Amino acid sequence: MSRQFDVIILGAGAAGLFCAAEAGKRGRRVAVLERSERPGKKILISGGGRCNFTNIHCKPENFLSANPHFAKSALARFTPADFIALVEKHRIPYHEKTLGQLFCDRSAVEITGLLDAECQAGKVQVFTAQRVTEVNKGTEFVVRTEDQEFGSSTLVVATGGLSIPKIGATSFGYDVARQFGLKVQPTRPALVPLVFSRADQKAYCDLAGVSAEVIASTNGIAFREKMLITHRGLSGPAILQASSYWERGKPLTLDLAPERVITPAVQRAKFRNMSEVVAAFQGSLPRRFAERWVELHEPESLSNASLEKFEDQIHSWSVTPADTEGYEKAEVTAGGVDTDELSSKTMESRKVPGLFFIGEVVDVSGHLGGFNFQWAWASGAAAGRAI
Ligand SMILES: Cc1cc2nc3c(=O)[nH]c(=O)nc-3n(C[C@H](O)[C@H](O)[C@H](O)COP(=O)(O)OP(=O)(O)OC[C@H]3O[C@@H](n4cnc5c(N)ncnc54)[C@H](O)[C@@H]3O)c2cc1C
Repeated sequence: MSRQFDVIILGAGAAGLFCAAEAGKRGRRVAVLERSERPGKKILISGGGRCNFTNIHCKPENFLSANPHFAKSALARFTPADFIALVEKHRIPYHEKTLGQLFCDRSAVEITGLLDAECQAGKVQVFTAQRVTEVNKGTEFVVRTEDQEFGSSTLVVATGGLSIPKIGATSFGYDVARQFGLKVQPTRPALVPLVFSRADQKAYCDLAGVSAEVIASTNGIAFREKMLITHRGLSGPAILQASSYWERGKPLTLDLAPERVITPAVQRAKFRNMSEVVAAFQGSLPRRFAERWVELHEPESLSNASLEKFEDQIHSWSVTPADTEGYEKAEVTAGGVDTDELSSKTMESRKVPGLFFIGEVVDVSGHLGGFNFQWAWASGAAAGRAI
C-alpha cells in the first residue's frame, strides 16, 4: 500500500525544502524523500560553514544556462530581498562579506533551522534515509524507496547535481528526466579548481598557498578576484568563477597586475637589472611568485621595446590547464535538465504534466557568491506556488 500525498518532492536540499514549505503553507499534503540520514547536508558545509545564502546584486547575468533567459522569471518573482525578509523573520544575524555576498554571522545550521521551521509550519513530512530507487507514472506518480511506496499526483525532482558525491550527490534527477523523455544538457563540474599541466605543476606548485589579485578570463568572460596556487594547479574565487566557462584544451588568460603598469619603474631605475624587474611587482604579486614568474618569462633584454613586450605578457599570461579537479571538488554542476523542457514560470515539464524540476538539477548554475542558493530558493518558490 502506498502512502498518499498531494506532492512528493525528491531531495531535501535547499530547493526541495524551500518548495515543500511553500506548498505546505498553501495547504498541500507534502512528503519530501531524502536519501541521506539528514536533510540539507550541502547547506551545512556551504560558505565555509556560514552559508552564503544569497547575493544582493543578483541578476540573470550571474547564471549560466543554454537558455540565458530561462531563469529571469523565477528570479524576478522571488528576490534576494524576499529571502532576507525570511532570515530576519527568524532572527538570524547576517553580514555582507564582499561583493553583495550575505553570510550567517554564526552558522549555516541556522539556515537549515529556518527551512525546518518553515516546513513544520506547512506540516511537511520529511522522510530521511529514503533512497529513491524507482519512479513510475500511471494515473499518478508512484515512488519506490528501498522499503516504502509513495503516491501523488505531483512529483518535484530536487535531487541536485553531481558535485560532492561523498555527501550524497547522485545522477538520479537526470535519470528521471531521461526516463520521461526530457532532454538533459551535458553536465560538467563548475566553480571548480583547475589542474595545471605537468610542466606548469613543476614550475609553480611548490608555491602552493601563494595568492594574488588577478583578472582571469576565458571564452570572453573575465573575473577580477583572488587567485590561489594549489598543490596541483590554481584555485581561489577568480579561478573558480572562470572555471565555469573554461573548455578543455582552451587557455585561461591571467592579468597579473590589473589596472597597474609594472615596467615604468624599471625604466626609471638607475641601473636596469632583473632585481629591479622583480621589485617592480611589489604591491601586485607576492615576492616569491614574482621571482618565479620573472625567471620563467624573462624579458629578452631590458630595452624599452623589450620591457613593453614584457608588460603585455604580465597582463595576458596564457595558461592551458590540463583538467578540472572534477565533481569531487566542484561547488556546482553546470548543465542538467534542458530548460526548453520546462515552464520558466512554474518549472513544470511541458511534456509530462505534474512533473517538476527545481534547483541545481536544472540547466541553470550561478556564479560564486550566493547565487546558487538564490536559484534554489527562487526555483523552489516558483514550483511551490504552482503545485
Ligand atoms: C562545498 C560547497 C559549498 C557551497 N557553498 C555555497 C554558498 O555558500 N552559496 C551558494 O549559493 N551556493 C553554495 N554551494 C552550492 C549550493 O550548495 C547548491 O547549488 C545547492 O545546494 C543546490 O541545491 P539543491 O537543492 O538543488 O541540491 P542539493 O542541495 O544538492 O540537494 C539535493 C538533495 O537530494 C538528495 N538526493 C540525491 N539523490 C537522491 C535520491 N535518489 N533519492 C533521494 N534523495 C536524493 C541529496 O542527498 C541532497 O540532499 C556550495 C556547494 C558546495 C559543494
